[in-house]
Formats: sequence, structure tokens, C-alpha cells
Amino acid sequence: MVLPFQNTYARLPGSFFEKAQPTPVVQPSLIVLNDELALTLGVDPEFLRSKEGLAILAGNAIPEGAEPLAMAYAGHQFGGFSPQLGDGRAILLGEIGGKDIQLKGAGPTPFSRRGDGRSALGPVLREYLVSEAMHAMGIPTTRALAAVASGELVLREAPEKGGIFTRVASSHLRIGTAQFFAARRDLESLKALVEYANRRHYPGTTGALGLLQKVITRQAELVAKWMGVGFIHGVMNTDNMSLSGETIDYGPCAFMDHFDPARKFSYIDQQGRYAYQNQPGIAQWNLTRLAEALLPLIDNDAEKAVELAKAELENFPALFKAAYHEVFSKKIGLVQNKDEELIQSLLDLMAKEKADFTLVFRCLGEGRESFLAQFQNDAKAREWHDRWQTSGEPDTSLMHTMNPAFIPRNHRIEEVIEAAKQDNFYPFRELLRVLQRPYLNQPEFSKYQRPPAPDEVVCATFCGT
Ligand code: AMP
Ligand code: MG
Repeated sequence: MVLPFQNTYARLPGSFFEKAQPTPVVQPSLIVLNDELALTLGVDPEFLRSKEGLAILAGNAIPEGAEPLAMAYAGHQFGGFSPQLGDGRAILLGEIGGKDIQLKGAGPTPFSRRGDGRSALGPVLREYLVSEAMHAMGIPTTRALAAVASGELVLREAPEKGGIFTRVASSHLRIGTAQFFAARRDLESLKALVEYANRRHYPGTTGALGLLQKVITRQAELVAKWMGVGFIHGVMNTDNMSLSGETIDYGPCAFMDHFDPARKFSYIDQQGRYAYQNQPGIAQWNLTRLAEALLPLIDNDAEKAVELAKAELENFPALFKAAYHEVFSKKIGLVQNKDEELIQSLLDLMAKEKADFTLVFRCLGEGRESFLAQFQNDAKAREWHDRWQTSGEPDTSLMHTMNPAFIPRNHRIEEVIEAAKQDNFYPFRELLRVLQRPYLNQPEFSKYQRPPAPDEVVCATFCGT
């Protein structure tokens, strides 16, 4: 089968990338393939399962029509600027059906610096589960097409089994891509980037200011959706924020169990820069970095450019607030809800009681007793429930499409990864199946619904390298 590659990114100026070939592995085996996604791309899943297909997904063969490359970008990481990052362990094969097809962990590229260009199996399976769960919950995200075991070891804290992940994205353009050209004062490339991003993601939009406005809107909506499912991205560096508004880079991310607005997971994020409640502020900070990068294209008059960019950035808090309010109003089933305090008082109660974020909202739609069971302090919970009931006619079917029963809980992810390391992929497949239908009651899988017991709590996730 000849895969229908388009290579629009490879047609951009040479400053955008370096050519890079995947490095073959000795004995690859397919762990999981996303048939449904393959079909939507117009690719026969049976082909991808064949020997020829596996060779492509492992980086052992380059499909006809692909032009493998590593993308160039810069980025602010934990606040500090690196003018030169680039794909050190990801290789873009090309686009199919307008989507990027990228191999992650397929060997070093010219941007690898001291890295090995490889991925351990754990982070590959984590990204597979979490990105597909996000998709199933209706949250914009990159997708998982395949996970392959490389049959080789990668050296991390200890030697670990290696994996190769095939990521599908609307594009891999990042805020850091614009920063890369801005830092080099390469205005020609910056202009080409703006035109390309607008053409690909925002047809009808023109110019740098237009792009900025669109990215601000998409990111405000995206972060509001994350907040609505208790998602903590964990590494919101500017190279991990996409211009398309999809969630990208599932390194140290996690979903909260009990509600704590100051919750952070990433083990390297000691300061809590990327904690749950800081995410909107960080998104705005990152968007400000995007605006700065785009300034020379916004207006020839530097002062005027700053004014115009500032006016767009100032919209972010209101856009976020509106999106956040909409998400949470739907979560409590009151679409017309004007009472911000109603939502906030529930969140305050949840924080105080360390109630489980997912279960509280899910149970609210299932009845009073079910809801009250999530709290120790019955009186306060009753009081809130009374207030909620008198605030309007809750739409419980809407609530069931907004409040997942199943999220990828960290302790379960860790559990299935441990089994996979012993070559038992059954738990991984089972959890994946459950997470693909997050809004459906699946009583036979209730164990995946439960928060961790005290001895099962996983405190930090590690950087996905
Ligand atoms: P991340 O934290 O995954 O966003 O990665 C930050 C930067 O480090 C990116 O430029 C990655 O390509 C690069 N990187 C991460 N892990 C590796 C690795 N194992 N080999 C080479 N480059 C890496
Ligand atoms: Mg990254």
C-alpha cells in the first residue's frame, strides 16, 4: 500500500527543519494500533499490522512519499528561554489527510543534543492512554496511532525497555516555533510560519495579529476544558503549546484524584509553576511570549505593534473565564447558570473535604445520596445540594456528557505500565477500552473508577524522557 503523504511542512523554507532519518531497531513488535484513527486517515489498519506496516511504525522503513524531518523550535522551559530546542526524539514522516504523522522515540536527530532520541515504554503507553482518553472526553488533543516495543533497552535511571510512539496531530507548530525565528530575527521565516499556520488551522485568517487572536481563543477554551476534568498538563513550556490549540506533550501530566487547586504532579516542577490553578495564568504568560515573537509582523511601528498585541492579550482572562464558566455550568447541569459563586462554593467544599474531583461531579448527576456520599461533612454538602436544586432545573443527561465516570487515574496507569514491562499488555488494553468510553457506566470496570487507596497514591510523575 502506498500511503498518501503530503509534505507541506517539508516545502517550507529550510530554516524550519533538518532532514532526519529514523534509526532502525533490531526486533520491533506492535503493542497497539488505533484502527479507528487509521481508518479516519484513510489508511488500512491491516496494512499497518503487516510486516511492512510495522517496519514503518518502528522506523525501520521509510514509507514511499514520506520526507522525514525534525522540526526546529525554541522555547521557554520553566521560565528560562532556550533559543534552540527542536525535535530531539521525534521525526515527522509527513502529513496524511492534513494531519502530521510523527514517530516519537525513533532515534536521534540533529537536534538531539545529548539525548538518545529514544523513549522508554512507560512514557509511550502513558501518552497513548492519556491522549486517547482526552480525545474520548472531547478535549482537543494530539492522537495516538500506534505503540511499538523496540526490542531494545534505553538507558534512563536504569535500563528500560524502549518504545516508539506514532503521534498524529493537526500540526506540531508550537509557540516555540515562532520564538525560534524571532530569536534569530529571521522575519522571512516568521512570516512564512504565520501564513502556513493560518492556512492550515485558521482558513480565512490573515496576518500575525489574526493568528495571535485565534491562538488566544483556542488556548483559553482548551485550558478551561482541562480544568473541567481536573487535568494538570505538568509541563506547559512554550514548546509544548501548539498553535492549533490541541493538547500536546503528555510527559508529566496527570488527572487529580481528590480536589486540590494547588496540586502539581511533575517531579521536576518543585515550585508548582504548572500547578492546576496556575494553568490559565501560565497559558496567558505563554501567549504573551507568542505575541512578543510576532511583534515585528504586527506593525512596523513598534509601539503600535505592542498596543495591538496587548489589546488581544487582555482578552484572555475574559475568554478563559467565559469558557471556564460554561464548562462548569454544564458540569452542574445548569446551562443558564449565572451564579459563579454556586460553582466556586462547591469547589471550595471539595477542596476542604479533599473530595474526589471526578466522582463528585459524576455523582451529582446520579442523585442526592450518591453526591452526599462523596463528603464527610454532610451538613455543608446538603446545604450546597439544596442550593443547587433551587437554582434551576438541572439537565442530567447533559451532565452525563460533561462528567466522565472514567479518567486515566495515575495509579492505574502506573499499574498497567508495570504489567507491560513484564510483557503483559492485557491490563493496558483493558484500561484503554474503558477510557475510550469515559461517559458510559461500565459497572464491570468499577475498579477503574475508584480513587487510589492511601497505599496506592502516586505522588509524582516523571518527565517523559
Ligand atoms: P519535552 O520535555 O518532551 O518537551 O522535551 C524538551 C526537549 O528535549 C525537546 O526538544 C525534545 O525533543 C528533547 N528531548 C527530550 N527527550 C529526549 C531524548 N531522549 N533524546 C533527545 N532529545 C530529547
Ligand atoms: Mg515537548
